[in-house]
Amino acid sequence: MNTIPHWINGSPVTGPVQQTAPVFNPATGQEQARVVLGSAADVDAAVLAASHAFETWSESSLSQRTQVMFAFRQLLVEHEEALGRIISAEHGKTVDDARGEITRGREVVEFACGLGDVLKGSFSDQVSRGVDVHNFRQPLGVVAGITPFNFPAMVPLWMHPMAIATGNTFLLKPSERDPSAANFVAELYKKAGLPDGVFNVVHGGKDAVDAILTHPGIEAVSFVGSTPIAKYVHEQATAHGKRVQALGGAKNHAVVLPDADLEFAANHITAGAYGSAGERCMAVSVAVAVGAAADALVEVLERKAREVKVGPGDTPGVEMGPLVTKAAQERVENAVGTAAAQGATVVVDGRGLKVDGHAEGFFTGPSLLDHVTTEMDAYKEELFGPVLAIVRAASLDQAIDLINANPYGNGTALFTASGEAARRFQRQVKVGMIGVNVPVPVPMSYYSFGGWKDSLIGDSPVHGPEGIRFYTRPKVVTTRWPQPAQQVNAGFNFPTSS
Ligand code: NAD
Repeated sequence: MNTIPHWINGSPVTGPVQQTAPVFNPATGQEQARVVLGSAADVDAAVLAASHAFETWSESSLSQRTQVMFAFRQLLVEHEEALGRIISAEHGKTVDDARGEITRGREVVEFACGLGDVLKGSFSDQVSRGVDVHNFRQPLGVVAGITPFNFPAMVPLWMHPMAIATGNTFLLKPSERDPSAANFVAELYKKAGLPDGVFNVVHGGKDAVDAILTHPGIEAVSFVGSTPIAKYVHEQATAHGKRVQALGGAKNHAVVLPDADLEFAANHITAGAYGSAGERCMAVSVAVAVGAAADALVEVLERKAREVKVGPGDTPGVEMGPLVTKAAQERVENAVGTAAAQGATVVVDGRGLKVDGHAEGFFTGPSLLDHVTTEMDAYKEELFGPVLAIVRAASLDQAIDLINANPYGNGTALFTASGEAARRFQRQVKVGMIGVNVPVPVPMSYYSFGGWKDSLIGDSPVHGPEGIRFYTRPKVVTTRWPQPAQQVNAGFNFPTSS
């Protein structure tokens, strides 16, 4: 059976493998490979390689770095189909959906291609007589990214192009559930001309993560995953003197006002809820039906949920693949049972779905729950599966209060024909990313991505301007070039301008 190695200093490395973990094909339920689980020694080897590479990479010119980014971007275009198939085979999402995540990740590379412009400092002439001030930013050193299973290409791409283009060297610890995309990307970087040691991959679980969080050679950690682990990563890494950005889980509400086009809203909410089997941090997991919208909305949502085509991710025409693991399938199906026991109406029951020829696959169908209340587990927990809960609210204000009382604040959407309602919603809601008639409002790469409250621990969203800030430190230089004949007595008072 194929063993998926680390990637250190420009080569695949297995080392003295102590432990491995299974990698499944979720559509068949079969183990298809094993991935090495990195130890502190593997992290150490990667940090050593990255530290050496930093000495030269941080001195490379902006145009050299930009050229690598342009070449890398082109390779991502050329290999999109191949990478999409690798992702689909380990994650379960459809190949087209995987291609979508590669495209959205590639946009971050495109932003990084414009590095020369975004890294420009500023200059102030004659702040005092004969004195000028300018500023510039420098890379941190070796930085690390720890990423979740649900976007094995896009989420790491939120991090490494930004880090590498700004002159850092990078260590990626991807999810052990779908590790192959990281190694494929490493090969593309090498083909793009990135020097060995600038991009490294160490696979593994908690041991590898803990080694990263405590390693004195790592300056900053970017994390995306569930909220409890985000809190742990933030706490540990800051305690060890590192800069941290840590994005957590979500419970995203889509509010539907009575004036909305219900067919349009239901169409988009269905795609936002069941796309990628609900395994997206921006998935719509709660539909808030306001006032008279409720019954009619549920009717359309039911029809749409029953129409979703479920099957293996590599079969053309399939809209929703399996869940990532058997444990995830069981967790989601149990949650539907608990919701029914707690009083929710199961309008569409996705449990027990069997896909022809894939009896062992980790499939579950779309589930639609009505009359969900804020006390029920189906509302309180991030189910991370194809389950849409409908909560009813009397007014837009009540819907906003509901969202603001929720501990998460990643994404939200409002479906309406009213500009006034949309403006009130976007100003009052305590959520980082907001869609108006857009169900999954993932910002473009030249903005930054990040939620509020328990969806982002610390204070740094990823990519865009915040990404540049995160991976660099500022310097401000105050300069005087006195004329040889000019003698000015230095005063003993605190310097002010003259
Ligand atoms: P996860 O938290 O289980 O794992 C994320 C990473 O942490 C993985 O690399 C994993 O190996 C590591 N990890 C897991 N348990 C650990 C432990 N005990 N100690 C140290 N490291 C550990 O998340 P997941 O299941 O892979 O991904 C799904 C979660 O990620 C969901 O909660 C989802 O909302 C969230 N997510 C958030 C965003 C966002 O932008 N906010 C984006 C994608 C996913």
